[in-house]
Amino acid sequence: MENIVKQIIDKYGSDSNRLMDILIDIQEEFGYISRKAIELMALTLGISQVDVEQVITFYHFLSVKPRGKYAIYLNNSVVSYMFGRQAIKEAFEKEVGTTFGKVTDDGLIGLFDTACIGMNDQEPAAIINNKVFTRLTPYRVREIVRHMREGRELEELSNESYGDGKNQHPELKAMVSSNIRRKGMILSDDYKTGKVVQSILPEMSPEAVIAEIKHSHIRGRGGAGFPTGFKWEFCRRAKGEKHYVVCNADEGEPGTFKDRVILTEKPELVFEGMAVAGYAIGGEEGILYLRYEYRYMKDYLESVLDKMREQNFLGSKIGEIEGFDFDIRIQFGAGAYVCGEESALLESLEGKRGEPRDKPPFPVEKGYLNFPTIINNVETFATAVRIIEKGGEWFTQFGTEDSTGTKILSISGDCMFPGVYEVNWGFNVEDMLDMVGAYDVQAVQVGGPSGTLIAKDEFHRTLGYSDLSTGGSMIIFGKQRNLLKEVVLNFMEFFIDESCGSCSTCRNMPQVMHNKLLKIINGKGVKKDLTDLKEWGKILLASRCGLGQTAGNPIISSLKNFHHLYEDLIQKDKEFDEGFDLTASVKESCKFVGRVPNFNHH
Ligand code: SF4
Repeated sequence: MENIVKQIIDKYGSDSNRLMDILIDIQEEFGYISRKAIELMALTLGISQVDVEQVITFYHFLSVKPRGKYAIYLNNSVVSYMFGRQAIKEAFEKEVGTTFGKVTDDGLIGLFDTACIGMNDQEPAAIINNKVFTRLTPYRVREIVRHMREGRELEELSNESYGDGKNQHPELKAMVSSNIRRKGMILSDDYKTGKVVQSILPEMSPEAVIAEIKHSHIRGRGGAGFPTGFKWEFCRRAKGEKHYVVCNADEGEPGTFKDRVILTEKPELVFEGMAVAGYAIGGEEGILYLRYEYRYMKDYLESVLDKMREQNFLGSKIGEIEGFDFDIRIQFGAGAYVCGEESALLESLEGKRGEPRDKPPFPVEKGYLNFPTIINNVETFATAVRIIEKGGEWFTQFGTEDSTGTKILSISGDCMFPGVYEVNWGFNVEDMLDMVGAYDVQAVQVGGPSGTLIAKDEFHRTLGYSDLSTGGSMIIFGKQRNLLKEVVLNFMEFFIDESCGSCSTCRNMPQVMHNKLLKIINGKGVKKDLTDLKEWGKILLASRCGLGQTAGNPIISSLKNFHHLYEDLIQKDKEFDEGFDLTASVKESCKFVGRVPNFNHH
């Protein structure tokens, strides 16, 4: 073991900034990270054992305890439940002979829950040793577990065929489907890789590239919507020996999966976009920060990068431009939603816990390793290539005045055709529902759990920064769904699990609000509970990052748009809680701490 760990550390130049890579490699090699390995890392990298350990415990896919020869991570997103997750969970537990959160006594199989794995269009889905298994049924679960017991290779665990498009690529061979239902400038097939870096950039100065991006009025596609041209300009102007380009491919917002599809079908466009950004800001290094859930794409994306290097779309003197040297490496996360926040992502890139930094300074001034850094979303980089190819003016023809261009939506839930749709900004929700074959719709969650839950009377609204802004996740709920019990509770549990714990507001309030919602669902709510929930939602706004600030949104937005559901559940004649059952409370707390209650003492 010692030798292998040493080799892994060597592979990353004994650099503590590469701790994430080292930990991931050790986890994959041994199925966990042992005390001995922690000691070795601390010694060689010059950091404390506590520092190593606190990084491990921060990420869902790293563990100090063995996770089993086969580690099964079953997605617990709301759409997974809508499409039969409970039956799959039960089938796994029955077949494997243990419950979730545990590993079989023989160490063969471990069962674990995990947050949205970006497969909402093909649920229920699970990740087993980095391979994604989609559209699970109890029958397939039995088959998979039987094959594991027979000691078969992972590739043989299922008899499924591969998914559509590039999922069939020899380096990918994934069961995942891309489900592209509507194409626009990004997903169309009319772009030839390398055209911009080889033929257009030689005619443009970096300043001209930035001017063109600014002229297009493109705003970041990750959700926050910051104008991309300004970001690039600030970074170019910031002083630093080096400038970095980082692509945020940590799409963890439940319900979003469009980056998965862009990276599968159009990775060249994303990498070329990063090179264009490198040219514009004067940077030589790009890093694709990819969520661990997409580890199955590793070999495929590396092969794409290799090919682009061979064609001189990456590397030295790209497009014969003197001094235009740019290359990209892939850095994986290890399962933490908060790392989608740009400063948390930087911490993770530097081999630390993904805890958001205080701002300012912003990454454009002090980013990766304190050098000026731009961080953009996968879709933004892909779009930038088309803007430079055809011009900012051309781009403004699409979309609306304050939201130019197209947006790629990830649409899932109760509809006939879940998948990825590229539409012009300004599309309205009603048309979207007709487009995807969604009938008897009760609600649509726009922008994931941190977004808004809208009701029918708002379906006329349009997608765009002046109305319904979204990073692209749209989840549709039919009339048959219990919104509070099935949806809002699930979203609150997600935020509770994903809080990094730095701020007391974000660490506590989602749990307290969740408990109150549960009380209401159980028929014990009173009028005061509704006002409490509204007030407590405001307290969350004091949190340090977007995760905490929006963690109350599932309750706040459902309270606003589906008030009647809450009203129907509370005891309308009661303003406040009356009376307090001391005996019941003592019994409950004793049960929790494992003590036997004794009511004879007074
Ligand atoms: Fe961490 Fe939540 Fe605070 Fe963000 S708001 S820094 S996730 S505790």
